[in-house]
Parts: sequence; C-alpha cells; structure tokens
Amino acid sequence: MPNKSLSPKRFSQNLLAWYDQYGRQDLPWQHPRTPYQVWISEIMLQQTQVTTVIPYFERFMERFPDVQTLALAEQDEVLHLWTGLGYYARARNLHKCAKQLLENYRGDFPETVEEVATLPGIGLSTAGAILAQSRGVRASILDGNVKRVLSRLHSVEGWPGKKPVETRLWELAEHYTPHERLADYTQAIMDLGATLCRRGKPDCEACPLNQGCSAFANGNPQDFPGKKPKKVIPVRTTTMLILRNEQGHVWLEQRPSQGIWGGLWCFPQTETSEEANAALEARAFSPCADAQPLDGFRHTFSHFHLDISPLVIPVRASGTRDSEGQWVDPVQPGTLGLAAPVKKLLATLDSPRQSRML
Ligand code: SF4
Repeated sequence: MPNKSLSPKRFSQNLLAWYDQYGRQDLPWQHPRTPYQVWISEIMLQQTQVTTVIPYFERFMERFPDVQTLALAEQDEVLHLWTGLGYYARARNLHKCAKQLLENYRGDFPETVEEVATLPGIGLSTAGAILAQSRGVRASILDGNVKRVLSRLHSVEGWPGKKPVETRLWELAEHYTPHERLADYTQAIMDLGATLCRRGKPDCEACPLNQGCSAFANGNPQDFPGKKPKKVIPVRTTTMLILRNEQGHVWLEQRPSQGIWGGLWCFPQTETSEEANAALEARAFSPCADAQPLDGFRHTFSHFHLDISPLVIPVRASGTRDSEGQWVDPVQPGTLGLAAPVKKLLATLDSPRQSRML
C-alpha cells in the first residue's frame, strides 16, 4: 500500500531542511546567482553532470562574463569553448539567444516564464529554473531529475516523453512548488534527484520525502520513470581524410551550420576509402606518399552510431582550390570549434615537427 502523500507544505519543509544540511550551495553559478549565470549553467547541465560542467562553466564565464560579450562574439569561439560538451545545438542556441536578449531586452532576461520560454534553446523547465533561481519567481521546473523524483513519489506510470505522463508530472511539480525560498527549493529538488533519488540505486533511507513516497512504500523505485520504448539505432560509416601538408599541418573544413556538428571544423569525409582520391582531386590536392589507416572507432549520436575510419594522407597542393578550409597545427589547433572525433584524432597525431622528420 502506498503511503499517504505529503502536503505541499510538508514536502518543501522536509526538502529545504535536507538542502540546508546536505544540498549543493557552493556551485560557481550560485555566486552570484544572476539570470545570466543560471542560464549558462542550466544549458550546460542538460545531459551533462555537474562535475563535468564546472570547468567548462568557469572558462566560459572568464571569456564571456555577460550577455553582451557573448552576443558580440564569433560563433566559432563559442563553439570552441563548448568543444567536448557535445550537443552543439545548445551552444549555437545560446549564442542566438544572447543576440536576441541584447537586441530585444537590453541584455537582460524578460520577466515571465512564458516570455523566457520563447527564447532559442529555452523550454518551460529551463525558463522556470532561471527565474526561480535568480529572481525568486514562483516557477516550477521539470528536468530529468525532477521527473524521476515525482514519478517515484506518486508511482506515475509511463515514459515521461509521452504527453499525458508529462502533463501529470507538471501538475505535480506545480502542486509542490512553494511560495518562499524558490531559489533554494529549485536547487534542492534537482540535488535530491541527482544525489539521493538516483537513477541506479536510490538512497531512500536518507530521503527527506520517504514518508510520502509511493514507490518506496511499494519497494519498486527502479520501476519509475517508465522507460522510453526501445528503438534500434542505425549504424553509418564514414572515412575521415586526415590530409597533412609538408609542415605536418592538417586540413580542416567548416561544416554547414545545419546538421551534425553544425558550424564545427572537421576533416573532409567520404563514405569509403575508395573515394579518397576523388575527394583530394576536388580539393586540388595530390597525394605525395601512401595513405595510412589509423584505428577506427565509433561515435554515437542520439539517433545513430557513426563508425569512423581515419586515413592519414600526406598531400601537396596541385592547383587552385575552391573548397573552403584551413591548415591547422594539430598540436595547437587555436580557437576553432572542433567536432569531438576531430579533437580526439588531433590528440593522437604526432607533432608537425616529428611528422617532417619521418
Ligand atoms: S524515497 Fe526513494 S524513491 Fe522516493 S523520492 Fe526518496 S529517494 Fe526517491
């Protein structure tokens, strides 16, 4: 039998008392808790853990301390500081959003959740988190952690990606949102999901909400939230052509702004290694030594696996080139935004000096 659920008052009292003792209160975006800092942290934290985000956040703040600096920066530099965090649409939207804030709101955030949620890359939950944490607005949030907590507390069946399930979870989120200490409450419920009500093994004994938790009473927290229906994701293959000139520098091209790795710099690609010569010709390069394959590896996107076969080809220029690109020192690639596999491959290449001596 499920326990009786907690009243909203008891819920927030228990949660905040726990937060005061165990919650995270020294995260870099909490000091000061401005809309700008909270916004950047919330976007970085989507799909990414706090410990991974902290150094990225600090570097980002050092370079872009406010909306204006970010809005006026080149997209390449924003992507560069995002390299390794993945899901690059987040960085492109962040940049677009900063421009809109500067143009339409004098560089500040609008007042209401509805308005904030119209900005690029910001959904209702992120809008709520920004306003609740930075301005104490009474706004609910429903990120992955909160979905897990609420679906366990009330044994809400079904995958939260389904509309009726999500609607029910929003109702619960609004039901429990208090009228005071909104910033702390918002951080507290996210912390509870991240540290006690974990995906793997929830620590229900230590949980301040366990007296009102249905899944705890029934001994089945792991059954919630319901799983996403399984889909087999397809495998695609690509050959990455690592073209090196006499200086040992490699040739990178900027990807179109739409699609995978949009706007990032990448090696030229072909579907198979047999197409490498045609790709060289198209770029007015000719090979000057045998191509050398490197170990292949898999990069996984949310909707497909990409099996990558890298091929190193020493080249020399053989005419006028109309493709856009640039030679880059693999040891010091500068401030270009790089696709994650490119960054990984550059780190495995020998230095230009060594390569010349070979
Ligand atoms: S009692 Fe357990 S399952 Fe319920 S909210 Fe707390 S940690 Fe999660």
